[in-house]
Amino acid sequence: MPDSPEKPSCDQWYFEIGDGNTYGPFSLEKLQKWAALGNLMPTHRVRNADSSEWTIAAYVPGLESTTKATVDDDEEVVEKPTSKGIGGFVRGLGGKKGAAAEGGDKSQARVVHNLEPPDIVALCDELLESAFVRGASDLHLDPEDDIVLVDIRVDGELETLRKFPKNLHGPLVGRYKVLAKMDIAERRAPQDGQFVYPLGPNKKRVSIRAACLPTTHGERLTLRLLAVETEELTLKRIGMSKEALEVFAKYVGHRQGMILVTGPTGSGKSTTLYAALRHRLAHQPGRIITVEDPVEFDIVGVAQAEVDSTDRVRFATVLRNILRSDPDVVMIGEIRDRESADIAIKAALTGHLVLSTLHTKSAAGAFTRLIDIGIEPYQVASTLHLSVAQRLIRRLCTHCRKPRQLTHAEADLLGISDAAGKTVYDPVGCKQCRGRGYQGRVGLFELIPIDESISRKIINSCDEEEIARYAREQGHPSLKQDGVYKLLAGAISLQDLIVATSE
Ligand SMILES: [Zn+2]
Repeated sequence: MPDSPEKPSCDQWYFEIGDGNTYGPFSLEKLQKWAALGNLMPTHRVRNADSSEWTIAAYVPGLESTTKATVDDDEEVVEKPTSKGIGGFVRGLGGKKGAAAEGGDKSQARVVHNLEPPDIVALCDELLESAFVRGASDLHLDPEDDIVLVDIRVDGELETLRKFPKNLHGPLVGRYKVLAKMDIAERRAPQDGQFVYPLGPNKKRVSIRAACLPTTHGERLTLRLLAVETEELTLKRIGMSKEALEVFAKYVGHRQGMILVTGPTGSGKSTTLYAALRHRLAHQPGRIITVEDPVEFDIVGVAQAEVDSTDRVRFATVLRNILRSDPDVVMIGEIRDRESADIAIKAALTGHLVLSTLHTKSAAGAFTRLIDIGIEPYQVASTLHLSVAQRLIRRLCTHCRKPRQLTHAEADLLGISDAAGKTVYDPVGCKQCRGRGYQGRVGLFELIPIDESISRKIINSCDEEEIARYAREQGHPSLKQDGVYKLLAGAISLQDLIVATSE
């Protein structure tokens, strides 16, 4: 058996059964007894008191006996992917408690091996469950030389959930590929798939999008948990101030025109658009259609079309077809070229409310960007009703954040000298936030509603600075001002604010 750790000299062991608690220390003999009774599963994590590394029970000398033969079996399947071998392998997995989740495969749900396989199904369930409970948006299986890393992304930050011996890589990826209805025999080409899985204490049905990418160390698998953020997806929740919310909601209720959300990748633009759709859906009747690449969240009551936006011809065709079906609101995932911009502008001029995103840094930058793409300034001025800039920042954990006074130097740096001495908070880390100091994220927003004066500025010179200054005079705060407000409200840290507004 590969990857066997050396037998530790210390006979004190801790274990976890996935309920969030650590048990122990106990002697190995005691663990063996529990293993024999079935209370300690081969997939549960065990750690020697001498070491800080967790490993699964099946790989601890003395606890491996029930699973050894199967590990060899799995290797044989992975090394020689004959169709028969894989079939047996899949049936072996299906024989476990997850059989029902695969649907329609119950006739094959029998264990064909002489000995039980390690409970890959339970392990895969446990990983998804852990990711969901921690509020992760993604779960990655990342194979390295001799281990496989299981990473999760929580609030935009990657953290390692578990590490496994490399020989579990094949079975783990295989199980998820089966769930996502991918071809498990194909390991050299990228594949996509998806499945719905019950997770959490309420067995919520979570949509999961799977993507598989071959690397030199084997297949890298990414699972995106789509519903995780949708639960909280209201405009208020994403951190818009009351004033900004009123403006935004007013424009989302418009019968026609265009609303653009700008920001770099990962700034939460689509989250805001989805929240806008939900708001619209809740307050106004009408047909809503989206064209996305890819569909990131499922929204009940909205027709969502998924189109590869790099396929420009098809993207434009789908968009035109959608407009013919006469929706009231169209959401276009991203405007990235002349063609999609043209269609969006025409739709916005002919009785549709168009929502989309644009990859620019500032709200005022949206005007120049559209003109650079090839749209006439007068068209931009007449169709664009609202431009929003957005950043996403980690929200400080309110259970452990530590107050202190803003120094003069910091206040000067932010351009708010008179705020020196006011209370701001630093991240600390506690049990509630799992030591991270942060919980969830909050958006910073800058809104520029286009009035007659801005329309004229767009047509005449489109001076971004001038437009942004004018919007501020009208009482619409800049990204930084919104950030300062959230800093002084204790929602975000100074460090994060500086990083987010200096890019
Ligand atoms: Zn905390």
